[in-house]
Amino acid sequence: MLVTDPALGRDGEQRKRGGARGRRRRIAFQAIFEGMRTVGWTAAYGLRYVLTRHNGTGAQLRRAVLLRDYLLRMGPLYMKAGQVLATQSGLLSKRATDEFRSFLSDLPPMSERDLRRTLAENLPAPVGDVFAGFDYSPLAVGSVAQVHRAVLADGRTVAVKVVKRGIPERLAASSWLLEKLLVTAGALVPALRRYEMPAHFRELRPLLVGQSDMVAEAARQARVAANFEAHPFLTVPLPISELCTADVLVMEFLDGVRGQDVELVDAPRPLLAQRLQDVFYCMVYFHGLFHVDPHPGNILFGTEGRLMLLDFGLVGTLSEDDKWNLSAFYYACVRQEWELAVERFTRAFVARSEALGPAASDYRKELAGILRAHFEEETARWSTMNFFEDATRLLRRHGARVSTGFSLLALGLLTGEGFISQVDPDVNIWDNARRFTDRFSPYLSDELRDRFDRELGTRLPRSTQARQAAAGYLVAPTHLDRFVLPSAFPLIIEEATGSKIRDLDGNEYIDLSCGYGPHILGYAHPVAVDAIARAAARGAVNALGNTGELALAEGIAAAFGAGSKVVLSNSGTEAVVMALRMARAFTGKDRVAKFEGHYHGFSDQGMVSSWFRYSGAASRPEPVRGSAGAHAPVVTDTVVLQYGERASLRRIAEQAGELACVIIEPMPAALSDYDQAFLAELREVCTRAGVLLVFDEVVTGFRVHYGGAQHLAEVCPDLSCLGKIIGGGLPCGAVVGRADVVDIARTTTDPFLDVEGRAFVGGTMSGNSITAAAGAAVLRHLRDNPEIYAELRRKTAWLTDALSSQAAELGIPCNITGGHSIFSITFDYARPRLVRDRLAGSNVKANFGLAYFMRKHGVYMPELHTMLLSDAHTDSDLKIVSDAFGKSIREMTSSGFFAV
Ligand code: PLP
Repeated sequence: MLVTDPALGRDGEQRKRGGARGRRRRIAFQAIFEGMRTVGWTAAYGLRYVLTRHNGTGAQLRRAVLLRDYLLRMGPLYMKAGQVLATQSGLLSKRATDEFRSFLSDLPPMSERDLRRTLAENLPAPVGDVFAGFDYSPLAVGSVAQVHRAVLADGRTVAVKVVKRGIPERLAASSWLLEKLLVTAGALVPALRRYEMPAHFRELRPLLVGQSDMVAEAARQARVAANFEAHPFLTVPLPISELCTADVLVMEFLDGVRGQDVELVDAPRPLLAQRLQDVFYCMVYFHGLFHVDPHPGNILFGTEGRLMLLDFGLVGTLSEDDKWNLSAFYYACVRQEWELAVERFTRAFVARSEALGPAASDYRKELAGILRAHFEEETARWSTMNFFEDATRLLRRHGARVSTGFSLLALGLLTGEGFISQVDPDVNIWDNARRFTDRFSPYLSDELRDRFDRELGTRLPRSTQARQAAAGYLVAPTHLDRFVLPSAFPLIIEEATGSKIRDLDGNEYIDLSCGYGPHILGYAHPVAVDAIARAAARGAVNALGNTGELALAEGIAAAFGAGSKVVLSNSGTEAVVMALRMARAFTGKDRVAKFEGHYHGFSDQGMVSSWFRYSGAASRPEPVRGSAGAHAPVVTDTVVLQYGERASLRRIAEQAGELACVIIEPMPAALSDYDQAFLAELREVCTRAGVLLVFDEVVTGFRVHYGGAQHLAEVCPDLSCLGKIIGGGLPCGAVVGRADVVDIARTTTDPFLDVEGRAFVGGTMSGNSITAAAGAAVLRHLRDNPEIYAELRRKTAWLTDALSSQAAELGIPCNITGGHSIFSITFDYARPRLVRDRLAGSNVKANFGLAYFMRKHGVYMPELHTMLLSDAHTDSDLKIVSDAFGKSIREMTSSGFFAV
C-alpha cells in the first residue's frame, strides 16, 4: 500500500506500526510541531546571525559554524539539504564545507527502549530468536539511523542498522515544511529566486526522505555491492534481504579500522589515497551509481590496503548521457581544449543555461579562464572543491546554477577528496584523476608513444611513408584513421598466407583479425584461390545469372533448412538493409526494433545504439545515433531493446501493431555467447505478435557452426543476414529465410503490384561470378570437413584459458571471453553482463597498449575489435600468441597500465 498524500507522503512499504491514516496523522502533528520548532530556532539563530561579526578574518567560518549548529537543531533533513544546497550554490568556502563534514559523527542515539520497540516491530520473530546475541550499545550513530553489532542464530556476525524512532515522520514533515519555507522565502526576497531553491529541493526531496527507508537502502546497497563483486580491493557488505524491513537493515559485518583512525592502518598512505580515489571515480565514471557521502565514518580499512564502503542512505545516479558528458568534459580538459571544455561543462552541469542570456559570451570567457587556471596552472595542487567553488560562483553571478544531479556528484567528490587529502596530504589528485579518466582515451600518452616509436615505429619505415602519402588522397588510409579508433602505427600488408600477414617492411605477424571474419580457412587457402582463379579466367560476370551464383545460393539455402530462399548482396550492411526493407514490405508495418550494443553494419538504422554511446535506462534503452549524418527520424523511430531482459519482450508485445521486425545478433560478437532461453522466448513473442524475427549472423554465420548460431541455439528466425565467410574472402552478403517472406523481393508479374507492394533489393555486383564461386567453394569445404568446427572450438578454449591464467597469475584485472573461434579481451575487474557496462568499465588504453606490445612480439590483434581464429592457426601459432601475451602484460604492468 502506498502513502498517497503527495505533500506529506513518501512512497514505499507501509510500516508495521499503524496504518497509512495513522501515519498521516502523525506526520500532520509532526508538521505542526516542526513548524513551531522551525519558527523558534530560526528566530533564535536569525538573531545570533545579526549579532555575529561579519567582517574580519574567520567571518566565513563563523557563519558556517552558525549555520551548522542551526541545521543540527533543525534535524536530519535540514542537515543534508543544507549540505547539498550550500555545495550547489557555492555559498560556502572550503573551510566552511569541512565544518559541515562533521555533521554525521557522534550524534546521540535513540533510547534503548525505543530501539527494542523498533526491533520488535520490524523483525520477523522475537529479537532473541533472530539473534543469538545483540549489542545494544551502538557502533555508530548517524542523523537518521544507528548501527549495532549482532550475531544471527546461525552464528553469522551481522551489522544491524536501525532507523531512529520518529525520524521517518520527521523527515516527511520537515521536507513538506521546508519546501513551503523555500517558496515563501523566494516570494519575500526576490534576490533568492534566481537560486531556484524550491525546484531544486523538489528534485532532492525523494532522495532526502528516502534515506530512512531501509528496504530501499538495502536495494541500493545490493546494487553497489554487485558492481564491486569481483573488485580487487573494495568490499561492500551484502544486505541480508529477508531480514530487511522499512526500519531495519541487516547486513554482513565487516571488520576493519575506521576511516578516522587511518593512522592505525598498516599500508602506505599514498596507496590508500589512490585506491580511495580510484573507487570514487569508478562509481562515477563506470557504474554511474555513486556514494554521495564517502566521509571517514563510512569507510573501513582492512588488511593489505583493502577498503570497505558503508552506508548507502544517499546514492547518486548518473545516466548514460551524464557519464558521456562528464567524460567528454574531462577529455577536453586533458587536451587543454578550453572552448570545447566550456561547451561541454555547460551542457553537462548547468541547469537552465538559457538563463545566461546575452552575457553568455562573458561567461564562456571567464569559465575558460577558470578552467585554464585550475587544470593548467594548478594541476599539482588540484582540488575539485576549489574548481567547483569558482565555477559555481561564476554561474551564480550570471544567474544560472549547476544541475541537481551534479551537485550530488560534487558533494560526493568533495567529501571523498577531503578524506583522500587527509589520508595523504601530498596526494596529487589531478594525476590520479587523469590516469583514471584517461583510460577511456584511445590515444597514447606522449611517453608511450615515444617508446612505441622507438620499439615499433622504427621497424615500419615504408609503411609509415605509405600511410603519410595516402593521407593526401584517402580519407582513412587503409582503415587506420576512421572514426574514433585511430591506429597509432600503420600496418600495410603486402602478403597474407594461412595464419600470417606480412607488411610492406617485411615484418611478419600471426594474425588474430581474420579480416574481421571472412577468412575462416586462413588467408590464400587453395580452395578459395583456385575457385577465384578459375572464375576470373572464365570472365567476371555480374548483373547476369551465372553458375557461381546458383551454387552459392543453393549451398546457403541447404544449410538453413528445407524451403529456405536466398537473396545475395555485396556486404553484411547491405544484407541488413535488404532484410529490414523486406520485413517492412511483407508486414506492411514500418518500425524496427534492435538491441543495444548490436552492430548491424553502417546504415543509419543498423548503427543505432550499436556501440560507444548508449542512452536511457538499461532496462529501457533509448535510441542514440551511431554516426553524425545519420537521418534523425530513422534513429528516433528505432525501438532499442536489451538482450536478456524480459522487459524487452514485453515492449515487443506492446508495440506489435507498429513493428515490422526485431533484429538481433543471436550471439553478440562482443560477448561471444548466447542466451538460449531468451532467444526461444523472443521467437515465441515475435510469432505471437506477428513481428518478423531477423537474426544478424554476418559474423557468426558459418563461423560458429555450419549455418550459424541459430543452429546451436535451435531457434529459427524468419530471416537471417549473412556476410563475411560466404564470400570466400571477397565482398558478399545474403538474406536467407522463410520462402514466403523472401518472395516479397520477387516479381508478381504485375508491374503495378510490384511497385506498390514488393521490395526492390537489387545490386550490380550482387551474386557476381567470382565472389559467388569463392563463397560456394569455401562453404563446400566447410560442409565436407565438419571437424574444422570442433577444432576451432578446442583451439579457442585452449587459447582463452592460456591467456586468462597468465593474467590471473599477474593479478591483472582482465576478462577474456570466447568460444567457437571468437574471443575478446577487456581490462576490467568486473564481469559485466550488458554491452554498455562492458565498454564503460574497460581500460581502453590498455587494449591499445596490448595491441602494440603484441605487435612487437609478432602478433597482430586489432585494437578493440573481437579476435577471431581460423582453421589455419596451428597449435604452435597459438603458443606464440600466448607467450607474446605473457610478455606483453608483464611489460604493460611495469609501464603502469594497471596501476593500484
Ligand atoms: N552485422 C554484424 C553483426 C557485423 O559484425 C557486421 C560487420 O562487422 C555487419 C553486420 C556489417 O557487415 P559489413 O561490414 O560486411 O557491411
